[in-house]
Amino acid sequence: MEKKDLDWGNLGFGYMTTDYRFVANYKDGKWEKGELITDPNVTINECAGILQYCQEIFEGLKAYTTKDGDIVCFRPDMNAERMYDSAKRLEMPPFPKEEFVNAIVETVKANAAWVPPYGSGATLYIRPYMFASGPVIGVKPADEYQFRVFCTPVGPYFKGGIKPLTLCVSQFDRAAPRGTGHIKAGLNYAMSLHAHSVAHANGFDENMFLDPATRTYVEETGGANFLFVTKDGEIVTPKSDSILPSITRRSLIYVAEHYLGLKVSHRPVKFEEIKDFAECGLCGTAAVISPVGRVVNGDEVITFPSGMEEPGEITKKLLDTLTGIQQGRIEAPEGWIKKIL
Ligand SMILES: *Cc1c(COP(=O)(O)O)cnc(C)c1O
Repeated sequence: MEKKDLDWGNLGFGYMTTDYRFVANYKDGKWEKGELITDPNVTINECAGILQYCQEIFEGLKAYTTKDGDIVCFRPDMNAERMYDSAKRLEMPPFPKEEFVNAIVETVKANAAWVPPYGSGATLYIRPYMFASGPVIGVKPADEYQFRVFCTPVGPYFKGGIKPLTLCVSQFDRAAPRGTGHIKAGLNYAMSLHAHSVAHANGFDENMFLDPATRTYVEETGGANFLFVTKDGEIVTPKSDSILPSITRRSLIYVAEHYLGLKVSHRPVKFEEIKDFAECGLCGTAAVISPVGRVVNGDEVITFPSGMEEPGEITKKLLDTLTGIQQGRIEAPEGWIKKIL
């Protein structure tokens, strides 16, 4: 198979139309089998549930080429499981988990020419999503849905080296107590765009959101979970019902414990505590772990001892170990790497 003629090392993080996408429809109370198609456009009724009441959920994962030349993706069963949970919370018919993984495999296979080569730093970003396609005008769940998977090649997250980020504590909340913060739904992003624009306009890379009920605990950034390292080298990740359960964060915790022999704890983290931590990172599929150097809360400026030049020592070790596992340089735990081609 001949690869597409792209400048792999210089791709950005943007959408590019690839050759095939997977589509399955839900109608008359059941999911059809689904198929690969070439048309990148979606045609839906003007009154579709997604357009009126925002019934939509999604996932994000990557396919890439390993050291041995295999095309693989990382823990797609976890995305299948999380999308299943998201669907139930938004009163959508869950897409069967096995077929979800199958749809990922078929989509990547059909677009193998778009999977960046090993060592380029680029990956094939895969976007599974599902939305209400049937018309609704009275408020209720729609009767018809569409599940789709497309993919697009994206460049390395860190171009020109890893630089620690500066965050601000947002004056807005990203999720309501007992709301939808724990599911991967587009609606959570729609309402965070303003907070994002304000943070960027003020010169910050990202927001740190606090718990919406008391604004005393750390939640997440809205696209990535926090991971802290204490001065004793222990890993701490914030626990809350309104944090989206990041697969990267859960994988890093496993790596910390089983590969690096570190102590880990998943517990509520008070904002007050973070000035005592040695390192801070953001966990998500896009960057695996991005170091945070500084958090600003009004007049208060917290700079972690790891500083603004380099990732902290443990952050760096976690990043190197998990990317090593993903790319086939370090042996992976059973079931983490799904071979596609
Ligand atoms: C997707 C997402 C993350 C990161 O999850 P991964 O599975 O690690 O990619 C974190 N927070 C939110 C709100 C997300 O939507």
